[in-house]
Amino acid sequence: MSADRSGAVTDDSVSDGGPEAPTVSCARCDREWDLDRELDAVPPGGHAIEQFALDHERHTGHYPDGVRPWTVRCRRCPDGERFLSERPARRWAQTHARHTRHTVDVEAPTGDDDVVTAADE
Ligand SMILES: [Zn+2]
Ligand SMILES: [Zn+2]
Repeated sequence: MSADRSGAVTDDSVSDGGPEAPTVSCARCDREWDLDRELDAVPPGGHAIEQFALDHERHTGHYPDGVRPWTVRCRRCPDGERFLSERPARRWAQTHARHTRHTVDVEAPTGDDDVVTAADE
């Protein structure tokens, strides 16, 4: 509750509100899901939403409402990932850059392009 992470979905603070079941809606699909029912194998908290959002994107090509992914893409190889929060996205980019010396683009959900180049010259 202390740090404002500029709207990004954080891993740890999602379940602060108590036992309330997380719901996700999608304007494009005109649907709403109760994650407790949709994903009862996943423990309550941020991971359910994350799991659902990634799954939804895989099936439909877009993310549900309120989910703004960080896109990490390597410029040199087909490697890339999408994350629902900044920290794992940056960690992936830095790890990949360090191991491969590739330049990795990290695209913020806001649309600001941010380039991580952790590789040595
Ligand atoms: Zn949808
Ligand atoms: Zn690469």
